[in-house]
Amino acid sequence: ELIVDNVSHHFASGPRRVDVLQDVSFTIPPGAVACVVGPSGCGKSTLLNLSAGLAGPAAGELRWDGDPVRLGQNRDVGMAFQQPGLFPWMTVERNVAVGLRTRGHDKRDAARITAEFLETVGLTEFKDAYPTQLSGGMAQRVGIARALALQPRLLLLDEPFAAVDAFTRLKLQQEFKSLLKLSAPTVMFVTHDVPEAISLGDFIVVMSHRPASVVRIIEINREDRDRSSAAYAHKLSE
Ligand code: ATP
Ligand code: MG
Repeated sequence: ELIVDNVSHHFASGPRRVDVLQDVSFTIPPGAVACVVGPSGCGKSTLLNLSAGLAGPAAGELRWDGDPVRLGQNRDVGMAFQQPGLFPWMTVERNVAVGLRTRGHDKRDAARITAEFLETVGLTEFKDAYPTQLSGGMAQRVGIARALALQPRLLLLDEPFAAVDAFTRLKLQQEFKSLLKLSAPTVMFVTHDVPEAISLGDFIVVMSHRPASVVRIIEINREDRDRSSAAYAHKLSE
């Protein structure tokens, strides 16, 4: 369970103070997917960074599994950033495997898991490529593979499918749903794509303009949604 409790945050911009988040509160129950939507610049990425413990909120508190989110590395948290931030001197394969190695997986184990998740994002053929040889969308998929491979209990995703083409996006969304069924992480998923939020979320957190507060929470009925999308998927494959 991730609790965002009355969180406010601001940045200094020269002498000015930019208020970004204002009294943001919502709770993601264990294994649920919260999709966060809101205007550009409202503070969605900031909220993810705070949830990951990359910074502390100016006010309020974030709690993960009952404990305040600690500053620094939180072990069971996986994050894919809007800019994937790959190590340019490492191959695609190494970029994914390195995180597994630092978390104690031996070499063979790390290689096996890496192969599995590169397959998931459709990049098996590019495992020996270097980040500069990839398109933006491909680099983003490596970032997703790297986050998923850790099989974290809390998954924080910042527009993970934004840079990929529409067909790949559909495929990744389906893969992502299957993964959710297998490992049921608690997920905060930031997206600009409202259909994507409806398709993947258990609920949608709608944020306002900066300083962003939560204006609405829309619950999604998974069964209704999956029944209708299954019907359409069937039609598409006819
Ligand atoms: P987008 O949808 O475009 O990704 P966002 O909702 O993720 O936007 P944030 O990246 O969280 O928005 O940024 C919110 C605001 O905070 C912006 O006005 C941005 O300029 C400002 N901001 C973010 N990080 C910093 C920082 N490190 N220092 C100063 N200002 C910052
Ligand atoms: Mg952002």
